[in-house]
Amino acid sequence: MICAVNFKKGVPGLIICCKTVAQARSAVENTCCMRHFKITITLLFSFASAAGFAQCNFAPPASPHVLNYSFEPVISQDKLRFRVTLEFKSGGSGKTKLILPSEWAGQKDAYKSVTELIVISPGTTLTETSEPAKREVQSPPNSPVRIAYVLVKDWSGPLDTATRFRADLSPEYFHIIGITSLVHPQLDSFQPVEVHFDWSRLPKEWSLATSFATDERCQSFNGSWHDALNALFVGGDYRIYRSSIAGNALIFAIRGKWSFTDDEWMGKVGKIIEFERTFWHDNSFPYFLVTLTPHGGNSGSSGGTALTNAFMEHLSPQASISLNILDQIAHEEFHSWNPYRIGHMPDPQEPVSWFSEGFTRYYETLMLFRAGLLPFPDYVISFNAKLRDYEMNEGRDVSLAGFVRRHIGDKSAFSGLEYRRGAVIAAWLEATIRDESHGRFSLDDLMFFLVRQNAAYSGNHGKPMLVSNKRIFKAAARYIRRASVHKLRKYVEQGGGIQLPVDSLGSCVQSRIEAIGKFDLGFDRGSITSETKNVVGVRQDSEAYKAGLRDGQQLLGWSIYNGDPTKQVKLTIKTAAGRQEITYYPQGEKISVQQFILNAGEYSLKPQVCSAMIQH
Ligand SMILES: [Zn+2]
Repeated sequence: MICAVNFKKGVPGLIICCKTVAQARSAVENTCCMRHFKITITLLFSFASAAGFAQCNFAPPASPHVLNYSFEPVISQDKLRFRVTLEFKSGGSGKTKLILPSEWAGQKDAYKSVTELIVISPGTTLTETSEPAKREVQSPPNSPVRIAYVLVKDWSGPLDTATRFRADLSPEYFHIIGITSLVHPQLDSFQPVEVHFDWSRLPKEWSLATSFATDERCQSFNGSWHDALNALFVGGDYRIYRSSIAGNALIFAIRGKWSFTDDEWMGKVGKIIEFERTFWHDNSFPYFLVTLTPHGGNSGSSGGTALTNAFMEHLSPQASISLNILDQIAHEEFHSWNPYRIGHMPDPQEPVSWFSEGFTRYYETLMLFRAGLLPFPDYVISFNAKLRDYEMNEGRDVSLAGFVRRHIGDKSAFSGLEYRRGAVIAAWLEATIRDESHGRFSLDDLMFFLVRQNAAYSGNHGKPMLVSNKRIFKAAARYIRRASVHKLRKYVEQGGGIQLPVDSLGSCVQSRIEAIGKFDLGFDRGSITSETKNVVGVRQDSEAYKAGLRDGQQLLGWSIYNGDPTKQVKLTIKTAAGRQEITYYPQGEKISVQQFILNAGEYSLKPQVCSAMIQH
């Protein structure tokens, strides 16, 4: 059998059809693996890769909404750069605003990766503007405009959870995102566009996987400009695996060595993706790419980001497929609907990120539980952690307006508040809908309604519906009483304490109020980042002091779960007497938090009954 079809244990319907990079060149195998796919892109030279990488020969753009990009890799002095050529047609005035990458995902000045920007079409000029990420192009009206630039890696140091958003170019591989790498004429987000990508000059042996196709060197996309720009492009030494879910292509691109096998990774990720599509009753994803790339961050750090037809995952090479990682995958996959199939996000997103991020945070663990990847007792533990994370956090009483004002300018201000608050609001809304509808409806019904609403709106208006608080409140009013809608609005707009209905997790789980110490390190956090690593600011009333920590001691090592008062802090310090280990719970002032306690006896007797309510 040319193409191994491998039904993974416990993953009904997920077919892993593995290929090595070398095998991927075979046209026969392409046919085998792709016969079920309904890829929406146009493949102009389906097997150009096997035919020796002829240039793609895309037709010259016939309108300002057609763009041709070509990428020529240049490897020298152990560095990879891309010579990028962009072609488009000018409008009636001949004047075009050219946009360079600027800020995205907290990464500033992304235009620094664009160098040697020039115009190459005759009679065309390029003028700088007062903004570093904007240029003006003057060309003959209604004529082809060609510009070229060299895309470089503009950062040094390790690839980590911040730099992973920038162009990542090395002689072994590349990992780029449209928003931080593509120069383009100014276009409306929802403008239908036709974009062609010519990768024919990539080395023959390199793999290629993008938001639009895998391995094909000539790729085309028809859709909104937003989706074209939010695309992911990887290639080089990535190992490519083609699989499918219910006939739809699911591609994995993996590079690096891991503590788990590629099969283990694909089995777990595939199961989550398949489960979420079943949950949403939506399998309309003809093509989907998941990339896995090692970064140089510490073992606990990881990052996932949803993009067009894709999500990218970065993990440290020591990582295991832990609950945290599964949470992240379930989270990114959930974004395929919230917000992408619920509507378009406002700019800035902060006013509604409690919903897009917070509700996704709530659902990520629920999806794992429902998919059978997380036992119910662990789900309850994780649920309690979400309640603590919000109630015990400094931002609890910050209003939405206050959060938006501070967070837009400084992403570190009240960092993560939208996730924490939104997750608890989702838990409250879930229980309230169930209570007030006497079990007829759940939060799922509200989420499905928002997707249906957007589909109808898009059909009529040719663009997605705005995700706004007004829209969410109005939709919630279909399922909860007016007084509860007021409460919802209050939680969203003012924050503060949120009390959940006592039966939120069903009959085997009781609610009670516990006094838990707020996270308090007990000494100045700056001690860790200082050059001398000398401990300063130890407070005498702190657990750190009680454990023996004193000002002036030198830190040799530390293990701190930031923000989690239930995990011990471990410090290694240098004292006059030598090395010393200090451990303590970083708890300060005690505050009251609602927690849910599973009756273990009842659960062991009837586990199905205990978890039945949240199963559906
Ligand atoms: Zn998210």
